[in-house]
Amino acid sequence: MSLSELCRRCGLCCDGNLFSHVPLERAEADAARRNGLEVVALATGAPALRQGCTALKGRQCSIYLERPEGCRRYACRLFNALAGGTVPFEEALQVVEQAHALLAAVERGLAPDTDPRPASVLERARFAAWGEEGGFSSGTSAARERAEAFLDQHFHGGPRRFEPPG
Ligand code: SF4
Ligand code: SF4
Repeated sequence: MSLSELCRRCGLCCDGNLFSHVPLERAEADAARRNGLEVVALATGAPALRQGCTALKGRQCSIYLERPEGCRRYACRLFNALAGGTVPFEEALQVVEQAHALLAAVERGLAPDTDPRPASVLERARFAAWGEEGGFSSGTSAARERAEAFLDQHFHGGPRRFEPPG
């Protein structure tokens, strides 16, 4: 099994659960818009691709060959562990599935998603915690903490591509 096979079954660095934005080169912004991607301006004025990405279909990038440079460069901690041979493929896949299961547990405690633009489970949970969707139970709050800790442990740690929007 290949490295890219792991990513095809994951998609967590594209769905907004790990990052809110992917920085774009200025020259990439128009191409990204043509591909139907949501381009926003960061506080620095630099363009960025908003996550969850509209190019993500299921767990896969639908414009893989044309994806921006920031997407090409990124590798999470789990990907690096697999590439370095410290985690075998099947174990890496189990981590991916566990992450999705933990996020699904959070989602079960959230109100149905009626927003037409893609919003990640953790983004929706953040809004719910702020009370904009009526809050959520202590059980869902605990599920959110478990999911965030798991993502921090297994996925964050590569080059971060988070930058707050302007
Ligand atoms: S989070 Fe890691 S394993 Fe998942 S798609 Fe991104 S680079 Fe691949
Ligand atoms: S363009 Fe593709 S690789 Fe980049 S964030 Fe969107 S779905 Fe992921």
